[in-house]
This record gives sequence, C-alpha cells and structure tokens, in this order.
Amino acid sequence: MRKIQMVDLKGQYEKIKDRVDKSLHEVVESTAFINGPEVHQFQKELEDYLGVKHVIPCANGTDALQIAMMGLGLKPGDEVITADFTFAATVEVIALLGLTPVLVDVDPIDFNIDVDEIRKAITPRTRAIVPVHLFGLSAKMDEIMALAKEHNLYVIEDNAQGIGATYTSGDGSKTKTGAIGHVASTSFFPSKNLGCYGDGGAIFTNDDDLAHTIRGIVNHGMYVRYHHDVVGVNSRLDSMQAAVLRAKLPHLDDYNNSRRDAARKYTSAFRGIENIVTPTGYCDAENSICDTCDCHVFHQYTLRVLNVDRDALVQHLNEQGIPCGVYYPIPLHLQKAYADERYNEANFKVTNQLVKEVVSLPMHTELDDEQIDFITKTVINFVNNNA
Ligand SMILES: *Cc1c(COP(=O)(O)O)cnc(C)c1O
Repeated sequence: MRKIQMVDLKGQYEKIKDRVDKSLHEVVESTAFINGPEVHQFQKELEDYLGVKHVIPCANGTDALQIAMMGLGLKPGDEVITADFTFAATVEVIALLGLTPVLVDVDPIDFNIDVDEIRKAITPRTRAIVPVHLFGLSAKMDEIMALAKEHNLYVIEDNAQGIGATYTSGDGSKTKTGAIGHVASTSFFPSKNLGCYGDGGAIFTNDDDLAHTIRGIVNHGMYVRYHHDVVGVNSRLDSMQAAVLRAKLPHLDDYNNSRRDAARKYTSAFRGIENIVTPTGYCDAENSICDTCDCHVFHQYTLRVLNVDRDALVQHLNEQGIPCGVYYPIPLHLQKAYADERYNEANFKVTNQLVKEVVSLPMHTELDDEQIDFITKTVINFVNNNA
C-alpha cells in the first residue's frame, strides 16, 4: 500500500507537471513577477468559473477577509457575527479591525453556523454576518440572506474551504458558494481545494462599487497612481502563484469529484456502524452522502465519534500510519485572545461537544481504494473495541 498522507500535493503535481513547469518558467523569463498577465488571466478565469462579476486577487485568505470588511466600511464598535467552530482567521480579522466579534454556536448536523443563534445574537449594533462554508459544505445561505435583508446586514462568505461547492437554493437555482453574499473571501493556501504553491487569496463580489473600492484598498488605497484616497494595505497575488492556479483551475471540478468519491467510499464503509456519525450534505435526509448532488466539496471529511476517547483514536490511527486531524480542538470563544465575559457557556453546547468528538480523515485527490479500505477498517475496529 502507498504511504497514506493527509494531503498529497506531490501526487497531484506529477499529473500537471508539464503545464506547471512551463508556466512557471515563462513567468521567470518574462520577469513580470507582480501584476503580470497571469494574474489578470487567472482573475478572469475564476470570475467565469464562479459566475461572479469581480474577483480581486490578494495575498492570502486572511487578508481577503480583512479587506472585504474594510471595503464594506465597517467601523470600530460594529458587531460582526460568526461561528464559534471555525479556523481563527475569521474572528482574528474582526478583532484586528477593532470590530466586535460575536461568536455563535453551530448546527451539529452540518457543523455550520446556526441560523437561529444568529437571529438571537442580532443587536442594533450588528452590521455583518460571516458564514464559513466549513469543511466544504455551504452554510444555509437562503436563511442567512433573508435574515440579513430583514435586519439590513452585510453577508461576508468565508469560502476558504468551499471553493467549487454549489449551493442549491429553495427555488432550485444553483449558485457557487462565494457568489451569494455581498462579498466573499477565499484562500489558495496549498492544502485548500484550489491551492497554489505558496500563499494566495481572493475577494469576490457582484457589486461594481465595492469591487472598485477593494481594488484600491489592496493597493495602498490608490485609485490614481500615488494618490492615496483611503488607508489601504499591500496585498497581492504574485504571478508565479497565479500561473500555478491557472494550471489547476481547469481541474478543480475533477479534484472536487475525486474528493467526493473518496467521501462516498468512506461513508458507505461507515454506514450502520454504531458510534460513528458521518458528515452530511443538505440534499440528503438520510445522513449519508447524496450520489447525484454537487453541494459538498469535502475540504475535510470529518467524523464525529461517540462514546470513545477521540484522542486515543487519533493516537491509534497515527500509530497505524494513518495521519488525521482535529479541526478544531478548542472553540473560539474559549481561546485566550477571543474570550469575552459576555459569553455564556450554555450558548455553546454544540461547539463544546464537537471539539471532543471530531476527527478528520485523510482527504485529497489521490486516495486509492486500498488506502480507504485500510483507514475505514482501522477506525471501525477501534471504535467497536473501545466504545
Ligand atoms: C485557511 C482558512 C483561512 C485563511 O486562509 P490563509 O490563506 O491561510 O490566510 C480563513 N478561513 C478559513 C475558514 C480557512 O480555512
């Protein structure tokens, strides 16, 4: 059996090596390292892929979130609601800008922000909601957009884990995540579903004025060369990264299909096993993965294990040569940097429970059946023997 990896970037590279090597070499030859034609071409190609009017590339996914909030003109004291169960970048940029983060609990079925909890957290100072499409599954965007409209709030989608995912609205229409809210951010960190070979990110919006504002913000607040109209930042996607992303974007749907295939195999192996809860997608009432829909892109394949010591399972898997991850081990409201006396533990029941139960299995585009079989058997044996 091939060695199991959490993420297999080398195997993926081998398959597109010729195109990537040629493109990178051309960038070097051209010396257009910053703002070169590759960046502009990638921007257009991603706009077409997502069905969004404007893509503004930037340096990473954390900057993308920060710049989106700056572009909306959010001011110190404004409250921004986001999920307690996510990567810290989301809450970090809210705090960095002097805005007030308001963390709320998530839904135990899909791990995404709980819309009823958002509703309860809205105050007269609330200005924005940041849903995170966690692990590659869209948050409940119909409900979130309706709530935002009712209260005149902005919606900023954190699409770092969801690129290529589709959201099916109640009326049957399908939209790529990141093209639904007022503005969205993504990351091209190497291990993301569309990853470059360094750091990269982008902001998406359908709003022409906001796109214009953001294009200035990413470039030192300049709209006319050496005229600085607003306080901006320096946040660029470089041409080398854009060249890699251009080589990979045409394969993104295939990559996401490979992830879904692996997820489907995991889920069918775990079906009916007591104490293992498999991840779900919306179109699937049976708590298993739908075979026809394209909603989930499985940035992570995350199980909940019940009545077993999750950390002992992780250790056992590692000893068997199976890497795995715990995303995330600590709720954000309990992190030192983001603790706040306003928070009441009783309001974070789900996150407090999930951090003890979740384990993410190897997930990438190069998993084979032998590996999946070994992983699922090892997990099932451990759970059956220790629950
Ligand atoms: C990866 C990630 C980010 C940050 O992206 P970087 O490019 O590493 O800055 C933000 N939000 C979520 C949910 C992420 O997974």
